[in-house]
Amino acid sequence: MSISTITATGFDQFGLHETLIRGIAAAGFENPRPIQDETIPAGMQGRDVLGLAQTGTGKTAAFALPLLDRLLRDPRKGPRALVLAPTRELATQIAAETRTLSAFTRLKMVTVYGGVSIRSQVIALRRGPQVVVGCPGRVLDLLQQGLLNLSQIETLVLDEADHMFDMGFLPDIRKILAALPAKRQNLLFSATMPREIRHLADNLLDHPHVVDLGEGATPASTIDHALYLVAEGHKRALLEKMLKRDDCTSAIVFTRTKHRARRLAEQLGKAGHRAVGLQGNMSQGQRDRAMRGFRENRYDILVATDIAARGIDVSNVSHVINYDVPSTPEAYTHRIGRTGRAECNGIACTFVTNADRLWVRATERMLGAPIPRRQVEGFKPEAEDKPRLHHTPQGNSQGRSHDARRSGGGSRSSGGSRRARSGGGGRRR
Ligand code: AMP
Repeated sequence: MSISTITATGFDQFGLHETLIRGIAAAGFENPRPIQDETIPAGMQGRDVLGLAQTGTGKTAAFALPLLDRLLRDPRKGPRALVLAPTRELATQIAAETRTLSAFTRLKMVTVYGGVSIRSQVIALRRGPQVVVGCPGRVLDLLQQGLLNLSQIETLVLDEADHMFDMGFLPDIRKILAALPAKRQNLLFSATMPREIRHLADNLLDHPHVVDLGEGATPASTIDHALYLVAEGHKRALLEKMLKRDDCTSAIVFTRTKHRARRLAEQLGKAGHRAVGLQGNMSQGQRDRAMRGFRENRYDILVATDIAARGIDVSNVSHVINYDVPSTPEAYTHRIGRTGRAECNGIACTFVTNADRLWVRATERMLGAPIPRRQVEGFKPEAEDKPRLHHTPQGNSQGRSHDARRSGGGSRSSGGSRRARSGGGGRRR
């Protein structure tokens, strides 16, 4: 097919390099997503961008297209764009998407992260890739060993900056920043804006164009989410009930610890489910196999910890089940955002015990609305175990608490004036 016969209709407006228009068409994108509409023009002008958006909104293409366009207009080799992501899984996803979009170009890319041998990454770096996608730890390692030269970086992307902070990467990031040329474009994406990330953004970004998809605190409208009151000792039974429901075709079950994820995956496997664990104690090979198996429907259930599951974009996850509540209210929207993707409906169930009362309050405060309480048919928590959970005031009138009446308790700040809801259909991996 000749270039002239290929158009990625809605993308023509941006004036992107023609090889990228081919890549966009090959990726199956027809119209830009809101984040792309809002980010690409500013990115193309070389402006700094602060994007408040989650994975799943199309933000990879939003930052990758302007970055690739700039690289294409000057064919020099060697690292000129650096994309930092908190997890290997996210780095791999970003690289895969960027490769698809640049499939008709001669640009080269390398993905660098820990947990695997550094050798193949060093060999790949010797080929002079223009784009380096990686996790901060390994990038810093390569930098300090003199194996990665960042002195020619023109564009820096920090993706899921809030997660990088959660995972303790800020010191590494600061060291990496010190090795970059002062004159460069910075694109920072984060689903939430905790104080530390606001601070980082203030230092890093120069008069940024702010794009706020407003999803950090609000679950997508396609997600039906609810709390299920349960005693700790009955969680397994409740989980079985949920998994047996006809509408539960594919589930991600989140646990608090790696140990609980591993054990629960084993227990579910013994009980006849096609379940696999995904947690940080697994080797990179094991993690990749688990993800691939889940993506390719060889497993119906992925039992994961937050960190291992960060940024994962899998289509058709019917249920997210929070077997244990997440450590922070912000992590709640991230977790439940693993379902209800690409405008599909999704169900998110959170098991809560008495001990989770404060978490429930803080999360409802952040959301600005109560989370509905539900029970699974045929399963009731024992009377003596029944947790005493109260609704926050935005719901019904019962159980008002002084705490819950305070407004704006979440750590997220609006960040900017623009707000657009995510929309548009889309292809999902
Ligand atoms: P991301 O938020 O970058 O992880 O993107 C989520 C998913 O949306 C990925 O599978 C992308 O390939 C897909 N996607 C991104 N932009 C578009 C678009 N304009 N049209 C259709 N699918 C898209």
